[in-house]
Amino acid sequence: MISDNSNHFDVAIVGGGINGASAAQHLAAAGYRVFLAESGDFANGASARSSRLLHCGLRHLADGTSPAEIIRNPLRLFRALNTVREDMIARDEIVQSIPDRVKPMTFCLPVYRQDTYRPWHMGLAFSVLRMTSPRGVALDYQRYRPDAANLPPLSRHLRAADQLSGMVSFREYMFDWPERIALDALNDARHLGAELRNYAKVTRLQRDNGLWCLTLQDGSQVSSPVVLNLAGAWVDSVSASAGSNAAARCQPISGVHIALKLPEEFDGHGVFAFNRLGEPLYCLPWRGHHYVGLTRRPHSGDRAEITATDEEIDWLLAETNHCFPCLGLTRKDVLYSWAGVNPLTADPAEPLGSREIKIHDLEADGLPGIFSLTGGPIMTHRRVARRLVARVRERLKPSRPEQSPTYDRRRVSGDAEILQAATEAPRSLADLMMRRLGYGWDPDQGLSRARHVAETAAPALGWGRSRVEQEIEDYINHLKDARRRPSAEAPSQEHN
Ligand SMILES: Cc1cc2nc3c(=O)[nH]c(=O)nc-3n(C[C@H](O)[C@H](O)[C@H](O)COP(=O)(O)OP(=O)(O)OC[C@H]3O[C@@H](n4cnc5c(N)ncnc54)[C@H](O)[C@@H]3O)c2cc1C
Repeated sequence: MISDNSNHFDVAIVGGGINGASAAQHLAAAGYRVFLAESGDFANGASARSSRLLHCGLRHLADGTSPAEIIRNPLRLFRALNTVREDMIARDEIVQSIPDRVKPMTFCLPVYRQDTYRPWHMGLAFSVLRMTSPRGVALDYQRYRPDAANLPPLSRHLRAADQLSGMVSFREYMFDWPERIALDALNDARHLGAELRNYAKVTRLQRDNGLWCLTLQDGSQVSSPVVLNLAGAWVDSVSASAGSNAAARCQPISGVHIALKLPEEFDGHGVFAFNRLGEPLYCLPWRGHHYVGLTRRPHSGDRAEITATDEEIDWLLAETNHCFPCLGLTRKDVLYSWAGVNPLTADPAEPLGSREIKIHDLEADGLPGIFSLTGGPIMTHRRVARRLVARVRERLKPSRPEQSPTYDRRRVSGDAEILQAATEAPRSLADLMMRRLGYGWDPDQGLSRARHVAETAAPALGWGRSRVEQEIEDYINHLKDARRRPSAEAPSQEHN
């Protein structure tokens, strides 16, 4: 067992995604001595692979379920309304406190005669949204008749104009980009006294004398009375490493996106349509191009190395072509793809997982002092962190005075930004490009800037000439693997 006091903390956090980062920030501000271990790079799990939407909550009211079905299931409706309220409050807080980390867009939703919804259902849904936050950030809801002269220009690419019963549009925000928001929270946590380690997998949790002892992959150990298991899609395996054999709390759902260059009529506009399974299909504007998502499948394989398959890419292309037939998109149009695993909440009634945000107290599973989280999206990370602080407070008093978290830190740009990123514990050029600087999300995935970034950061990171060359090569290979383009055209690509 650990005798060194420097390895003893009030709270240990497993997982450095958006929820781990935000929990570390809020707990450190509340006066707790915090340790956080992340097995890969910070914010490299689901937090780096989402649709990046700061949803207003419409998806919970229009998830493809018919209004009659919603009314027949009051418990589900009650849950949906609760989640809508959480989303709207989170939207207000994030847009108002970090306006330069989110981007507004006009989200258009075409409504067809044969759809589950009528345009007036949408009007009703937006009234409900507004009621949950009457003075919050504007929704800019607008309803168009199918023959209106002021229909958004992208509507000319929509399928079956003669079957359109109308269109609605509203203001939605996107995180640009979530990994940076996690890194900002981690910087603040460090500033408030937290100890943070990336590339430090927690391999074992043992209980000794009322404390949890966490063993990291390098053999080092830390102890704490409280552990927050915020390991995303890995929460159940982390609980198992502490000796729990309780039923799974997480339902991992994989999702794929593809990036495309669309005609200029789409600029600044997103489309919220329904695919042929009746599920939402998002087409989102992003730094001069668009991306489309997403697939939804229960996931059981490797969660870290997941990539989009040709089959998934073809399916997304076919669904996008179904919405916009004249685009005639093929595999050649795919700039890049990515895949992630969403740690949703396990619920026997919902095979594709429940979106209910749940904090599980694992005491009943024989793990006193361990809490785990499922279903916590990016957009509610601060609210979840505050709820976690409240749960920790029930067990433990803070050992230090309280401070305030700082959400909006001073920004730098150009080479100063690269040098600052080099102080944020990157191990590779990919860590810099993807998560700290975000250039990897440009249409060329940052390839035109990779050398400059590597050479500018090299002195601070102790990289010599050959290491710089190796990092550039590794970055190119990383893009080829993790963000793969599909192989040459499939024999019978669907273009209906
Ligand atoms: C395809 C897709 C689309 C989505 N779209 C949206 C969206 O539009 N808007 C939105 O708000 N949310 C969206 N989400 C959900 C959101 O991305 C996740 O809910 C959120 O990122 C979860 O954050 P997290 O910190 O809990 O988990 P993660 O970000 O997965 O972080 C968990 C971390 O734990 C680490 N870890 C695992 N095991 C260990 C261990 N033993 N030791 C140490 N560390 C460990 C992992 O490496 C990982 O980095 C989407 C998710 C997916 C996959």
